[in-house]
Amino acid sequence: MPKFNVQQCPVCDGKTFKTFLTCTDFFVSGEKFQIKKCNSCGFKITENIEDEDNIGRYYQSENYISHSNTSKGVVNSVYHSVRKYMLGRKRRLVEKQPD
Ligand SMILES: [Zn+2]
Repeated sequence: MPKFNVQQCPVCDGKTFKTFLTCTDFFVSGEKFQIKKCNSCGFKITENIEDEDNIGRYYQSENYISHSNTSKGVVNSVYHSVRKYMLGRKRRLVEKQPD
């Protein structure tokens, strides 16, 4: 199964990384993942992520609230208002950045 290994930083094109932390996906797969940190800019990225055809299984959960659009229940409805607000803030933040 092909996996994507970090060779180059997508932010600054840096080529050296160190391990930032190892974490476990307790939510779906139970597998361990390493987070690498770019030595030049500090960007953090997951090592060994699956390619497009295989990554879907890590998101196969009915309980993954970020990917649900149901507004049933108080928690979901509060979550989705906050998500809408935060996405707007993130968009403005990105738009403010100079080229
Ligand atoms: Zn970088």
